[in-house]
Amino acid sequence: MDNYTEVRSQLVALLAELEQRFHKITDNITHANEPLSHDFEEQATELENSEVVDFLGNFTRDEIAQVRQAIKRIDEGDYGMCVECGEPVNPERLKILPFIGTCIHCAEKNKR
Ligand SMILES: [Zn+2]
Repeated sequence: MDNYTEVRSQLVALLAELEQRFHKITDNITHANEPLSHDFEEQATELENSEVVDFLGNFTRDEIAQVRQAIKRIDEGDYGMCVECGEPVNPERLKILPFIGTCIHCAEKNKR
């Protein structure tokens, strides 16, 4: 069953893009090694920036993990099945979110 060859290459491309983005974000964090300014106002701005960077970094890292898992599921033949309930995921949902692991019902449940 190699119906997912195209999806897989899409995911591989997406993964490369996300990893590049992640490196850019973490590069910014390394810049935070510059000596801290003693100006309080500036420090506050630096802090805010690093929080944004943290958030983006975590968000991107989660996405990377999701995409990696999706590729793994394709390789193992589990792709298209919900990782929680094992039911097939709506193909329309997979088209929009190719790296999603859960069906709409489980995703709704997790939201609460
Ligand atoms: Zn499910």
